[in-house]
Amino acid sequence: MRAAILHGPEDLRVEDVPEPEGEVIVEVHAATTCGTDVKMWRYGHRVLGPYPCAFGHETAGVRVDTGERVLVSDSVACGTCRQCASGRPQICRAPTWVLGGFAERIAAPAAALHLIPDGLPAHAAAMAEPLAAAVHAVRRASGSGSDAADVGVVGGGPMGLMLTSLLVAQGRNVTVADPHAERRAQAEQLGATASEEHLTTLHELVFEAVGRPEAWRAAAAATAPGGVVVLVGGCPTGTEVSFQTGPLHYEELELRGSFHHSPEEVDEALIALAADETLWRTLRGPTISLEELPDALGARGGGPAKKPVVDPRA
Ligand SMILES: [Zn+2]
Ligand SMILES: [Zn+2]
Repeated sequence: MRAAILHGPEDLRVEDVPEPEGEVIVEVHAATTCGTDVKMWRYGHRVLGPYPCAFGHETAGVRVDTGERVLVSDSVACGTCRQCASGRPQICRAPTWVLGGFAERIAAPAAALHLIPDGLPAHAAAMAEPLAAAVHAVRRASGSGSDAADVGVVGGGPMGLMLTSLLVAQGRNVTVADPHAERRAQAEQLGATASEEHLTTLHELVFEAVGRPEAWRAAAAATAPGGVVVLVGGCPTGTEVSFQTGPLHYEELELRGSFHHSPEEVDEALIALAADETLWRTLRGPTISLEELPDALGARGGGPAKKPVVDPRA
């Protein structure tokens, strides 16, 4: 079968590879791309195996054995480590990663599969993987006076807009800060107020959705005393970020990391996508072939927040 295989930094090749082997084989109909793919392509990533490696983690398709439409979640938690035992599978210490969506077929453990609701297209269902991480981030904000009516979001990329959509649905007033006019327009379409560059007023709850040190600091700087910052965007491994100690100590500012999602959050994301098409229509990018993927990864940057969809059958 044909697959896009990562051979090294910025070395992605479409080639014929042996059929995948595993518990369930899924024929891929849509694999969406995201900022993490760009990071993986450019710098490598700790969840990738040694080169050459399979690639692509937002995958939807059809089970070859049953014909059911499924989302292939990108990980299965071990279920036995201390973090799993305490109900936090998203930070499992020994997960099985399920990568390889940029291919005609992918093998997955049955535990990674989620049925796609009727009527939800595969390209939209694939977005349930990142949307589940947004569902998780909103959950990480709960408690500790953070049920704020006014919420700030730093970054209007796909993750920032996913957070915006969920927070607006909760009835909150959301302000999104992003330097790109197109992304501010998308945030406004989703019901938020948009601000150029920085959040100009303090919020009790702020989500960071960029993944750069300056954005982490900007999120903390825009948070009111006693407030909560949820750090959603991952910086490259090894990055150090410095914060003023004053707000953390004298204002009891809370910095909370948010990573990944649980299986229940994936199902919640699928239900949200099926219930309201506004978000996935806003984020839908062009449908491309496997061969067009390297150029699509290299071309990402400013402009509107869009998620190109790889259809390996194209
Ligand atoms: Zn992703
Ligand atoms: Zn575990």
